Amino acid sequence: MNCPYCSSENFKVLESRDSLDSIRRRRECDKCGKRFTTYEKIAIDLMVIKKDGRKEPFSTDKLRKGISLALEKRPFTADNVDEIVKSIERELKKLKSHEVSSKIIGDRVIRKLKAIDHVAYMRFASVYKDFEKVDDFKEELKILAK
Ligand SMILES: [Zn+2]
Repeated sequence: MNCPYCSSENFKVLESRDSLDSIRRRRECDKCGKRFTTYEKIAIDLMVIKKDGRKEPFSTDKLRKGISLALEKRPFTADNVDEIVKSIERELKKLKSHEVSSKIIGDRVIRKLKAIDHVAYMRFASVYKDFEKVDDFKEELKILAK
């Protein structure tokens, strides 16, 4: 990376702020003293292996959508959703793997939701686990009641 004004490669970072999928850094060039902002994308280089064996690139949007749906009309804000998405992404990065099964991701979402809201947890679990029988639901409720 070079300073857009003088092409120097040396700068100070004045401020850096994380957003969901990028890091914004305010920089000051050591040579000419001008300031500029850079955005670094935090790409998650991850393939998700689905239940049927197909693979698709990990999608933050998809993860966020699933969690938002589960938390719909519950007392949570978009920031809460982002927090959960971020923490799951952090955990996935820690796996240091290029492939992860959709089950591992789903299990993590379920664990987070369970910790914050039982209704959201049940909603997500019912979709995610493909509950076919009412009995499955009852089993989950029993686990929750403990
Ligand atoms: Zn410069």
